[in-house]
Order: sequence, then C-alpha cells, then structure tokens
Amino acid sequence: MIEEVLNQIGRRQKFILTSHARPDGDAVGSALACCQILRSMGKEAAVVLSDGVPGIYRPLPYADSVLLGVEQAPEAEAAIILECDGIARTKLTGLDRHYLINIDHHDTARPFADVNWIDPHACATAEMIFRLAREAGVRISPEVATCLYTAVLTDTGSFCFSGTTERTFALAQELVHCGADPVKIAHNVYFSTQLSKMRLLGAALNTLHKDGSLAWMHVTHRTMELCGSQEEDCEGLVNYALAIEGIRVALFFREQSDGRFRVSLRSKGTVNVAKVAEIFGGGGHTCASGCAIEGPLSVATERIIAQLRIRGYQNRLQLESGHPDRSHQDKVQ
Ligand code: 5GP
Repeated sequence: MIEEVLNQIGRRQKFILTSHARPDGDAVGSALACCQILRSMGKEAAVVLSDGVPGIYRPLPYADSVLLGVEQAPEAEAAIILECDGIARTKLTGLDRHYLINIDHHDTARPFADVNWIDPHACATAEMIFRLAREAGVRISPEVATCLYTAVLTDTGSFCFSGTTERTFALAQELVHCGADPVKIAHNVYFSTQLSKMRLLGAALNTLHKDGSLAWMHVTHRTMELCGSQEEDCEGLVNYALAIEGIRVALFFREQSDGRFRVSLRSKGTVNVAKVAEIFGGGGHTCASGCAIEGPLSVATERIIAQLRIRGYQNRLQLESGHPDRSHQDKVQ
C-alpha cells in the first residue's frame, strides 16, 4: 500500500495535510514531518489542524506554519489525513472535495479515503511517515527527525505502551542519528508543563475513585475554569490513575462545553478498551482509546462500567458494584 500512496502522491502537486481535532503528539509530529517530506519531493503542501497546535508541541519545527481551516490553505488536489478514522474527526469542512489519502496506525482505523494505508503494527503514524520518506528516497532532516521522534515518544507513552518493540527503539535510534535531540525533546514535552495543568491534575486526583482494579476520575467545566485550564491540559492525566498499583483500567472524564463528557480509557493490557470506546462511537488502541458520551457524569460513568462488565471484564477487573452512586464510598482519600 505504501507504493500506492507514493504513486498517488506522484500524480499530484498540491496537498493539504491534517489529522484529528484535539491533536496529540503523533497527529502534530506526523503532519509536520509529512509536510516537509512532500516539500522535499518538490510538492506544495500545508498543514491544517482545526484546533491548532497544543502548547507543548509549539516548539516543534514548522509548528507556527499550521493553518486552522482549509479555506486558509492554498487550493490543493489531495488531502492526506493522518492518524484519524474519518473526515468528521478532523472537524474541518471542505475536505471531501479532495482526493483523500488516509495513513493511520489505529486498531480501529477505517478505510474511508480513496487510498487507505493502515498499519496497526506501527507504533505510531510517525513510523509510517518515516517509512514513506525512506521509500521515496527523501533524506530525513534534523527538523523532520525532531517531529517524528516527538510523535513516537508521545504515542508510545515514552516507550512504555504495548506496541513498543525492538523496531520502535531501532526507529528512535535512526531518528536520533538523523538529528533528533532526545534530551531537548523530553525537556519540551515532559519538563515544560503549564502550572494550569498541574492544578488540574490536583483537582482530578481529588475525584479519584476505585473499584477493584478499575480507577476513574473527572474534571468538570467549572474545575477547568477555576484552574485556568484548556482542553489540552487534560492530555495524559488518565495515566496517573493507571499508574496505581493493581489498577488494570483507568478512565478519565472531562466535561465538554456542550455538557457531554469526553472519556479517555487506558488499560495495562488485559482489557481491550478500544472495544468499549467503539460502542460509544470512539476508537483507538487496545490500551488507549477515547470517546464522547452524554452526561450527567454518574450516568456516563455507569454506562462505561456497564460495558466493561458486559464485555466479560467483571472478574478480570474484580468489579464489585462499580456503580457511581455508590462511588463516594469508594472514593480514594
Ligand atoms: P485520548 O484519550 O488521549 O484522547 O485518546 C487515546 C487514543 O484514542 C488516541 O490514539 C486517539 O487517537 C484515540 N481516540 C480518542 N478519541 C477518539 C474518538 O472519538 N474516535 C476515535 N476513532 N479514536 C479516538
């Protein structure tokens, strides 16, 4: 399929690149890197992300060239959609009139485009972009290596998540060889956290509940206001609940401005949380997935926990009631 992607790229001159709304490190890093690779191939390309670039990824090379809407970009013949399971999730309008190329590594990826290159074995979409560059004979510059390394680092949870293999480390080694600076990147991603995010983490941990080996926590719209937080401050908070000894699955609920809740689901491996997210119209990976669900919070929590039970995980998670109405009894003090 990589040949077909290169074949279709070869037939066209002008591209836009995009990914899902609320972009994470793989979305931003892969799009910025792929854009530069296309330019090295003599193409015209621009990155468009509906929510722009989150603060922690703004130090990335070319991050300041990202556009917020398709109408801001020069007219293109094709759109390359990275790490995203459909046009709707990009939250962009005007993409459907383009020839569409889909490059994705999610377990729940869908073949929605004209060409679909899907590889769930890749540790990040960035790994696929690296292969694309190699196959096209494009030299990986230090700037492109920096974008790809950041994507791999963040999407593998700092080389911790399942899917991190010998190949991942070989890729990281290659990227460092090409000029990525692992110390500087780690500094930007992990040691430049906004105070608002730390405040939000404190507030979220205050809501931590536990039932058997399931943990969950939440932040409301009001909490986010009080902490001076933005949506991007929520990224990764769920991992603090998953980090607890004996916890196998962790959930993080964030109240959206429309009253719905965005849910981050994480697993240490025994439970496939992508299957649960899919039931609610979301998706992701076996160990990391997400979806949006109607409130109120107690109902949203119970619906997710009920699906974990229905899918036969009751014993594996040692769930007792798991009912949020009872959860104040189980609140971790
Ligand atoms: P997060 O919880 O960090 O938002 O997302 C975890 C993983 O699930 C990421 O790989 C992300 O792309 C994926 N994901 C999150 N929300 C959705 C969603 O609504 N739909 C799909 N298809 N994937 C999602």
